[in-house]
Amino acid sequence: MWGAPMNSADLRAFAEGRTLDALRGEANALCESVWGKRVFVRGLIEFSNHCARNCLYCGIRGANTRVSRYRLSSDEIVEIVREGFRLGIRTFVLQGGEDPFLSVLDHCRTVERIKDATEGTAAITLSLGIRSRSEYAALKAAGADRYLLRFETSDETLHTRLRDGVPFAARRRALDDLKELDYEVGSGFMTGLPGETEETFYENVRLCKTLELDMVGIGPFIPHPDTPLWSDAPPSLERTLRAVALVRLLLPMANMPATTAAGSIDPLGREKMLLSGANVLMPNLSPSEAKRHYLLYPGKVCLDEDGSSCLKCLRARVLRLGKELVFDRGDSRSAALRHVG
Ligand code: SAM
Ligand code: SF4
Repeated sequence: MWGAPMNSADLRAFAEGRTLDALRGEANALCESVWGKRVFVRGLIEFSNHCARNCLYCGIRGANTRVSRYRLSSDEIVEIVREGFRLGIRTFVLQGGEDPFLSVLDHCRTVERIKDATEGTAAITLSLGIRSRSEYAALKAAGADRYLLRFETSDETLHTRLRDGVPFAARRRALDDLKELDYEVGSGFMTGLPGETEETFYENVRLCKTLELDMVGIGPFIPHPDTPLWSDAPPSLERTLRAVALVRLLLPMANMPATTAAGSIDPLGREKMLLSGANVLMPNLSPSEAKRHYLLYPGKVCLDEDGSSCLKCLRARVLRLGKELVFDRGDSRSAALRHVG
């Protein structure tokens, strides 16, 4: 659809010339023309809720003294992977706070152990925040395949404020390093952050295209009561759906999750995302106790389900949409094309 590079004013004019339903319909059709009716599974493991950072929006920010902190051991993580692998899962996502207790060598060791436990067949995605280029290189050499690092907002001033002093340039540098190191790179943003203007919203969408992302995670900002951004303003799923649909139209080959945050503000939030261009679901494989303490925002869903019942529930939800849950690694097509090119 977009032959020429598009600025955010053009993008806005395009979006405002269509109803949300029309945009979602176009995005879903494009998604199915590339990915079929397949919805790819990624097993999420929230390995630690310790964090040295203080992002203003996040429930596990270091300054929140009400959080009961935990850290899964490497043995526990590998055991969760073994169980997920037995259930058929072939991609595992390790996500956590920027935990100062865990060195890059600890992470490398866990990545190597996961590769061994899955006979090298599973893809490993890391989401460990901003690290140095040499640390990203070490993690890649250990076997990591993909990395998720949302830019959160393209507004540089807002970014620095909301991330408690971390400049946008640091995030941008990290994303460039990851791409140069040949990771499949994922990024994305929250919709409805306090201070987001219409211009920022469309710039956020456009930045996903500029970065030519392999994976794009978009979710609503949900205020947490123990953070400086607490407010009782209800988050808007429509805004998230609009963003997902537009990004899908710009990046047909990207993998895009129907995020848990969307499911947490609307019981059918993930289904609505899957009909707006998303093609990935991420069942949470963390132990219940860990899930309960990894509260980025209130109202998180599926706290009591184990991996197997979570998959059963997701399969039924996907079937109701006329789609099919699949367990392949679901490698990025844009990354594959880079290698061919
Ligand atoms: N620490 C790593 C980082 O910041 O990239 C990875 C974990 S972080 C908790 C994962 C994502 O959670 C962030 O990228 C952010 O978009 C999302 N998140 C944090 N607080 C949130 C909130 N209040 N509402 C919705 N999403 C939130
Ligand atoms: Fe830490 Fe990530 Fe939360 Fe920021 S968003 S406080 S880096 S866990």
